[in-house]
Amino acid sequence: MSSSTAKSAKDTNNKPSAVVADYNKFDNPKTKEYEFFGPLGALGVITGCSTIVFLWYFGCNESTGCNLPLTKLQWAQIGQGLKQTLLTFSTENIAFDSTVFGYYVCWFLWFAVLWYIAPGKVVKGVVLRNGQQLDYNLNGFSSMLITVVVGLGIYYQQGIAPFIWIADHYLQFVMSSLIFATGLALFVYLYSFRSTTTVSDVKVMLALGGNSENILYDFFIGRELNPRIFGGTFDIKYFCELRPGILGWALLNICFAIKQYDQIGYVTNSMWLAIIPQIVYCIDTLWFDDAVLTTMDIVTDGFGWMLAFGDLCWVPSMYCLQARFLSFHPVVHSSMFTWFVAILGFIGFMTFRLSNSEKNAFRRDPNQPSVRHLQYITTESGSKLLVSGWWGMARHINYTGDWFFGLAQCLATGFETPMTYFFAAYFLVLLLHRNSRDEHKCRHKYKKDWDVYCERVPYLFIPFII
Ligand code: NDP
Repeated sequence: MSSSTAKSAKDTNNKPSAVVADYNKFDNPKTKEYEFFGPLGALGVITGCSTIVFLWYFGCNESTGCNLPLTKLQWAQIGQGLKQTLLTFSTENIAFDSTVFGYYVCWFLWFAVLWYIAPGKVVKGVVLRNGQQLDYNLNGFSSMLITVVVGLGIYYQQGIAPFIWIADHYLQFVMSSLIFATGLALFVYLYSFRSTTTVSDVKVMLALGGNSENILYDFFIGRELNPRIFGGTFDIKYFCELRPGILGWALLNICFAIKQYDQIGYVTNSMWLAIIPQIVYCIDTLWFDDAVLTTMDIVTDGFGWMLAFGDLCWVPSMYCLQARFLSFHPVVHSSMFTWFVAILGFIGFMTFRLSNSEKNAFRRDPNQPSVRHLQYITTESGSKLLVSGWWGMARHINYTGDWFFGLAQCLATGFETPMTYFFAAYFLVLLLHRNSRDEHKCRHKYKKDWDVYCERVPYLFIPFII
C-alpha cells in the first residue's frame, strides 16, 4: 500500500480528513519560564528524591531503628547502606535483585493486560488546546477487583508467605520501581520527538511547560502531554497515575500488616489506623478515576521523570512508611487517641473527596443536578469558576483536606520518632508548591477574572484563617 493510500485509509478508519486537519491547528510554543529552578533544580529533584527513598529505608528499618540520625554511628550505617545501593549492578549491591525486578515488570504488565480486558467504560477527557478530546479507558476499579481475587487465590494456595516475602524485599522493589520509572521516562522523552500520533496523524502535542529544549529539564518535567502507544490505545500517563503505583502502595500496606501479624500474632490498632484510610484512599481514587482527568497532572503536565518516578516509585515506597514502621515497631494506642485520629482522618478525607468531586462534576457539566445550584463567575476565557460550595470556602480546600488526612496517618505511628512524620512535612511542601504553580497557571489563564475570583474567595486553604 502506498503511503498516501495508507494515510487516507487511516483517516477513513478514524476521523474524516477535515477534522484531522483541524486537530493539527495548534502550536507547540517554546517553554520560556522554568519551574523547579530550571535544569539544575531538576537535577536536584532527581538526585534528591531518589536518595530520600533509600535514606528513609536505611534510617528507618528493623535493624537500625527509626530514630532521627543524630550520632556518627547512625550516619555511618546509613552511609554504608547508601553505598551498597549505589553499586547497583555490582555483586556487592543489596538493593538490586533480578528476580524482584522480574516480578515488578510482571506487576506492571499485569495491569497493562487488564487495561485492555477488564470491564469499564470509555469517557472523554478535557478539551485539549487543539479542540480534541481523548478517550480514556476507565477500568481501574475492575482491574483492582480482579487483582484482589488473584491475591486471595495466592493466599489460599500459599498462605501469608508470599506477602511477607514482598515486605522483606521492600528495598529491592523500591530499586526496581526506580529503574523502571527512569527507563520509562527516557522512553517517553525520546518517543516525543516523532512528528505525529499514531492514531490519527495529529502532530504530537507537547506540554506547554515541557518544551524548553533543555534535554535534562524536558526529560524531568515531561515533554509530551499525553504519550500514547499501540495505535493510541494505551495512555501511559493515565495508566501510571492510577494503576501500578497506587495499587502497589495498597499491596505494600497489606504486606506490612501481615508481617506485623506474623511477628506478634495480631494487628495493632495503630496499624489499622494507618492502613485502612490509605487503602480506602486507593480504592476511592480508582472508583472516582474520572476525577483524575481534570487534575493538573493530566491536564497541564507532560509525562516525564517527575510523574513516572512519582507514580511508580515515590508513592508506593514513601507512602507506606507508617505501615512499614509499625510492622517492626508495633504501637498500641488508647481508644480515645484512636478515635481522635480516625475522626481527623475522616474529616480530612471527606473534605478532599467532596471538594474534588464537586469541581469535577461542575467541569464536566455545570447543569447537572448535584452542582447546578452553585454560584459561579463566567470568565473571558469561557471557563466558569465556582464561588460557592466547597470552592467558595477556600481556593484550595481540597489540598487542606488531603493534608489533614495524611497527618492523621502519621499520627497513627505515635510520637516516638519524627521520621514517620515525613509524609506530613513533605506533603505540606508539595501542596504549597503545587498551589503556587496552580495560582500562577490560573492567573495566566484567567487574567483579571482571577483577581475577581480571589476577591470573592479570599482564603487559600482554611476559611477565615489563611
Ligand atoms: P486541583 O484539582 O485543585 O485543580 C486545580 C484546577 O482546578 C485549576 O487549575 C483550575 O483549572 C480549576 N479550578 C480552580 N478553582 C476553581 C473553581 N473555583 N471552580 C472551578 N474550577 C476551578 O489541583 P490538583 O490537580 O493539584 O489536585 C487534585 C487533588 O489531588 C487534590 O485534592 C490534591 O490534594 C491531590 N493530590 C494528591 C497528591 C498525592 O501525592 N497524594 C499529589 C498531588 C495532588 P481550570 O480552571 O483550568 O479547569
